[in-house]
Amino acid sequence: MRCPFCHTQDTRVVDSRLASEGDQVRRRRECVGCGERFTTYEAAELVMPRVVKRDGTRVQFDESRLRTGMMRALEKRPVATEAVEAALNRIRQRMQSLGEAEVAASTIGEWVMEELRELDEVAYVRFASVYRSFQDVSAFREVIEGLEHQTPPFVDDGESS
Ligand SMILES: [Zn+2]
Repeated sequence: MRCPFCHTQDTRVVDSRLASEGDQVRRRRECVGCGERFTTYEAAELVMPRVVKRDGTRVQFDESRLRTGMMRALEKRPVATEAVEAALNRIRQRMQSLGEAEVAASTIGEWVMEELRELDEVAYVRFASVYRSFQDVSAFREVIEGLEHQTPPFVDDGESS
C-alpha cells in the first residue's frame, strides 16, 4: 500500500489488531521511504444487491416485504417466528455473498421457496402457487408431485432437538 505522505509503494505493517468488535482489522503501517506512520482499516464489504424485477425495473431489496410474504404463507402454521427470522437471515446472507450488484427477483423467489419447503410444506405450496401465479397449472402440479416424491423434510437424523 502506498504511503499517503511521500507516495512510496513500500510500506510495512508494524501493528495489526481487531477493531469494531472484530468486524475490522486496524493496521499501523510505516513507510519505508519517509518513516511516517499511518493507520489503515480493513473491513468486509457487504453490499446488498439491488433486485431486478421481471419487467426489468430495479428496486431496493425490501426485507420487510419479503418477511410479510413469508408470514402470509405461514399463516396459522406451526412455525416459530425465530425459524422464519433465521430463514430470512440465510436469504440475506446468500444475497450478500453473491458479491454482485444485482440479483434477479426470481432467484430470491427460488431461495424463499427452498426455505419454506424446509419450514412447512403447506406454506411452501401456498407461496409457490402465489409466486407462480397459477399461470401454469402443470407447474403447480409439479410442486405437489415434487412434495409427494421427496423424503419428508423433518427426517429424524439422530440429533435431538
Ligand atoms: Zn512515505
